Amino acid sequence: MLNEDFVSRQWLIDEYHRRHKGPPGGALKMIEEAPAADVEPVKHGYWVYKMRERNKCEFVSGFDHLGDWHTITVITHVKGPVPYCGLCGALAADSFLDYCSRCGAKMDAEPPKEETVNEITPEMIEAAERNEKRIKERVDKLYDELIAEKRAEIERLEAEIAKMPPFDAEKLAAIPIVPPKEFII
Ligand SMILES: [Zn+2]
Repeated sequence: MLNEDFVSRQWLIDEYHRRHKGPPGGALKMIEEAPAADVEPVKHGYWVYKMRERNKCEFVSGFDHLGDWHTITVITHVKGPVPYCGLCGALAADSFLDYCSRCGAKMDAEPPKEETVNEITPEMIEAAERNEKRIKERVDKLYDELIAEKRAEIERLEAEIAKMPPFDAEKLAAIPIVPPKEFII
């Protein structure tokens, strides 16, 4: 699109009447009849932070001591500050965006005075950190449990092998080798 200046029709009409002397001329008619530009006014908004609880899905991967790769899925309950659009109320699509993905408002406006929950408070940060710590502990515990389970399984198999009779080469050699039927002459 070309760079154009979009002007206010009402402002031009008011100015015309303010400056023009005598009966209205052709300029007023021209102003009134000029086609409207297809533009949307730019909206200016601000984020409103609210404490919210939601479920968060995490994937944790790693090798066990046998070199096998495992991935575990952990769904945790998260509590922390979540940004919402102060104009339309939509949840921010991503925390680093500076505009609302629903109404398009640019987040560069000052929130109105009566809006009290528009910033991240130290309590919110503390709650989020506590939660992160809890998630990490839970993930570590789950992973340790998985590894312990694998280790127990290996120990069980090793015990079974230990209980088997010792390898007897003579006995093995005594087993007659039967060739496949089509080779018997
Ligand atoms: Zn919005």
